Amino acid sequence: MRVLITGGAGFIGSHLCDRFLRDGHSVVAMDNLITGSTDNIAHLAGNRSFEFIYHDVSNFIHVPGPVDAVLHFASPASPMDYLKYPIQTLKVGALGTHNALGLARAKDARFFLASTSEVYGDPLVHPQSESYAGNVDPVGPRGVYDEAKRYAEALVMAYHRQHKMDTRIVRIFNTYGPRMRLDDGRVVPNFIGQAVRGEALTVYGDGSQTRSFQYIDDLVEAVVRLLRSDYVEPVNIGTTREISILDFAKIVNRVAANRAGIIFADGSRIDGDPQTRRPDTSRAHEVLNWRPKVELEHGLEWTFDYFRSVLSAAV
Ligand code: UDP
Repeated sequence: MRVLITGGAGFIGSHLCDRFLRDGHSVVAMDNLITGSTDNIAHLAGNRSFEFIYHDVSNFIHVPGPVDAVLHFASPASPMDYLKYPIQTLKVGALGTHNALGLARAKDARFFLASTSEVYGDPLVHPQSESYAGNVDPVGPRGVYDEAKRYAEALVMAYHRQHKMDTRIVRIFNTYGPRMRLDDGRVVPNFIGQAVRGEALTVYGDGSQTRSFQYIDDLVEAVVRLLRSDYVEPVNIGTTREISILDFAKIVNRVAANRAGIIFADGSRIDGDPQTRRPDTSRAHEVLNWRPKVELEHGLEWTFDYFRSVLSAAV
């Protein structure tokens, strides 16, 4: 297969590039590098099965030659990033998805959309299953991301129904691992950066809000399985181990042997911060025979190793 991965220089996109290349496919990565980085794909330079195209997919996408699958992963994805780039976020979810679908249609390729647990907003149903329609405030600060992804899902289903295109939608829950940006503002890089520097971890609010953190390798495996399947409806992918942010901070400090403790920094919290988040993954289990495998403590150690090497290279 020849696979186009938009957002291919991003955290998740670059891991997908690695996986598809390892599986013997050709990969074209496309990225405008506003939140991605060529550092994430530098190790692929010289690989004859790999190409990088610097391009903003919100503009018309041109890829010469055959394409068998289009994986649309381009988007700012951390709350800090999409608040910094609200219009680009809306555009890449709307115009970018439209262009990527158009390319897939022209090439007769399978289309795969990276959607998000944010389509559920601040959920009133717990855990969240795919049938839950969500609780999103369109004009809240997170609306730019949430509504862009909701629109993207609607567009994908319209192309599937109208044009009979072969499409997939994954709803990704909190995912962490090597190649997250240390300064992307999310809880995992913030806490790990603070712990590596021996600083107190900044818990926003009282830390009672919950998240479920899955390791990147588990997500990548699910993406490959979903792409290969024939399942068109959205599929949640995430871990069902739900923890409060306060407990998460304690785990990070324990894994890092950081004695600096925790401080409560409510001022940095973004309005509309969901209070709970945990996927119902029964569909992923039934359709893909998939379950996450990596324990949080192990995944955190590997992520620590990565951030330590990035920080020591920066000194
Ligand atoms: N958070 C925190 N300290 C930080 C960064 C984030 O307590 O330094 C909290 C944030 O308020 C949210 C949770 O951690 O409740 C996860 O935030 P993140 O930005 O990672 O992504 P989200 O899951 O909200 O999209």
